[in-house]
Amino acid sequence: MKVEKNHIWQLESTYQSLPERFYTKANPAIFPAPELVIFNEELAKELGLEKLMAELTPAEKAQLFSGMVFPEGSEPISQAYGGHQFGYFNILGDGRAILLGERLAANGQRYDIQLKGSGRTAYSRNGDGKAVIGPMLREYLISEAMYALKIPTSRSLAVSLTGEKIYRHDFLPGAVLTRVAASHLRVGTFQFAYMGGKEEIQALADYAIDRHYPQLNDFPISGIDNRYQKLLAAVIENQAELIAKWQLIGFVHGVMNTDNMTISGETIDYGPCAFLDEYNPAAVFSSIDSGGRYRYENQPPMGQWNLSRLADAMLPLIDGDEDTAVALATGELLNYAACFHDFWRNGMKEKLGISGENKADEAIIGDLLRFMEIHRADYTNTFVRLTLESGGHDGRYLQGTGELFADDKFIKWKELWKKRQQLSESRQDNIYQQMKAANPFVIPRNFRVEDALADFAKGNITTFLELLQALMHPYDYNSWHQKYQELSPKPMTGYRTFCGT
Ligand code: AMP
Ligand code: MG
Repeated sequence: MKVEKNHIWQLESTYQSLPERFYTKANPAIFPAPELVIFNEELAKELGLEKLMAELTPAEKAQLFSGMVFPEGSEPISQAYGGHQFGYFNILGDGRAILLGERLAANGQRYDIQLKGSGRTAYSRNGDGKAVIGPMLREYLISEAMYALKIPTSRSLAVSLTGEKIYRHDFLPGAVLTRVAASHLRVGTFQFAYMGGKEEIQALADYAIDRHYPQLNDFPISGIDNRYQKLLAAVIENQAELIAKWQLIGFVHGVMNTDNMTISGETIDYGPCAFLDEYNPAAVFSSIDSGGRYRYENQPPMGQWNLSRLADAMLPLIDGDEDTAVALATGELLNYAACFHDFWRNGMKEKLGISGENKADEAIIGDLLRFMEIHRADYTNTFVRLTLESGGHDGRYLQGTGELFADDKFIKWKELWKKRQQLSESRQDNIYQQMKAANPFVIPRNFRVEDALADFAKGNITTFLELLQALMHPYDYNSWHQKYQELSPKPMTGYRTFCGT
């Protein structure tokens, strides 16, 4: 079947201005029976694609969103990159992804539209280039939840079944996810460029500046305060902010390899990620992270490790003299910890409804986390209960908070915290509003996500759609989605997530 109505996609291919080594032309997929499972109308609208999409039948959409038909005028490619995976460098590339092109949205932002799971590419190595439905629906759900949680992230436009059964540990339905991101430039893309020499790194850095940090074009190409040093600084700042946001929300990415860390500062690659239930700094969910390299408390230092790999790759641009370049890059990297801590502390203060500076703040935050850890308090529900209490409401119904809130020492902590709130600039009713905006009522609880996927596998998509709907309004303190605040009826100790390739 030929889809002819798709010329309005108006996709661009600026990535192909980079040296040819950076990408390879991609071929359409061949699947027996593509079928659209879910389509994100709201995102289509943001991309300005809604009119076109309204003209397409579900069958035509399924052809497009499985990669069997490419939009007219698009020049699909797979991107080359490298990456440190669990500390070891490998040459990688989009082994199961195709970039259809870039779409300039009405807000002036350029977005990559990428298919994931649409078959083998030049970079597939021994893989089949495919994906199964569970992990693709999981990425759809969690990336959209992250968006609603105000965390920079790639988004999900569609999921299609392919009609194929793919062998993993069993035969499972194949699927393709359509992912939308500010770009897919990764730390690993710079590591790949480094191998091609200075000209290639410079081409990539110039492209990254034009695309994500155009204001840096005002700085000189070399010498003091050059634009490449500034680019490193800007990525460091964006990543520090992103990882602070993960920590504040209780998100564990699970596979922070350098090929999964973006230059734009968005979260990408939702594989074995999960959200904290009880507060446990050592939480690790990924089945492949047996050493706990990417455990919750280790995400901030791992961010710095990854950025050091970016700095390594950018050294030739930062200064012609290697020692000077190392000194300048090290100076930038040293800012990371303070930058992260500022974002994180300010975020924690928002969560606690305190503003202004006070030397007691570090202790208030640190003590709270210690009490939460001792009592294995539920991370999300603890903050919701504190929020409700700040607004004069009863939060006793919140599971996973009872033991903590009954502890005498914690009750004393609450008195200190309330006194500290009174020193804030805001009035009490504003404090309640501020806390509501900083403490989500609903997060993608691991057991709810698993239930939604299990029901889908049994032919029922309702659980998934209801959960998605609740996740789209995480700060709505309404009773209609109180069930999503409940904890798993079965203990989730030892909960493991899989990369789902
Ligand atoms: P990830 O852990 O998802 O970031 O993937 C790491 C690398 O493995 C990337 O280069 C992927 O493109 C590649 N990859 C993952 N799954 C497959 C697959 N089924 N076939 C080919 N390549 C894959
Ligand atoms: Mg990846």
